[in-house]
Amino acid sequence: YTGKTPSKLLNTKLKTMVVKDYQSIPIVVQEKVSAYDAICTMFLEDVGTLFVVDQNAFLQGVLSRKDLLRAAIGNRQLDQVPVSVIMTRMPNITVCEGEDAIVDVARLLTTRQIDGVPVVNKTEEGLEVVGRITKTTIAKAFVELSEGD
Ligand code: ADP
Repeated sequence: YTGKTPSKLLNTKLKTMVVKDYQSIPIVVQEKVSAYDAICTMFLEDVGTLFVVDQNAFLQGVLSRKDLLRAAIGNRQLDQVPVSVIMTRMPNITVCEGEDAIVDVARLLTTRQIDGVPVVNKTEEGLEVVGRITKTTIAKAFVELSEGD
């Protein structure tokens, strides 16, 4: 017997659940890609959020489903609109890193009211996008908690 209360045990377990063990593959597009092509990518890759990168593959922005819907209102020529003009851009992007606890990312998603964040490697030149954590990731991690012993 460890002498730990159930909530302390849960907290200890939660601290061991880190981003790098749960992240999925990030789907990225270049800044010059059109909103129309971004919609196609979103459907083909079956994701709700795209990460927008520059030519050096460093993070420049985030594109959500509603960003694309908003752009479609009053503009039927989405093939003429680059994603760079409709995305949420750096430095206003919420990110996480591989060693962060999943529960801390879950808190970011709820407080900032967003569906996902890119997992990044911070370098001198910029942020390399290496993964993605979404509400689905959080749901899976939550279910896993109930399956332990
Ligand atoms: P949706 O807009 O489809 O409901 P979100 O709730 O994820 O999807 O996005 C809400 C807004 O927040 C959008 O304008 C989107 O560009 C922006 N956003 C999404 N993810 C992030 C993030 N990680 N950092 C900053 N802004 C984000």
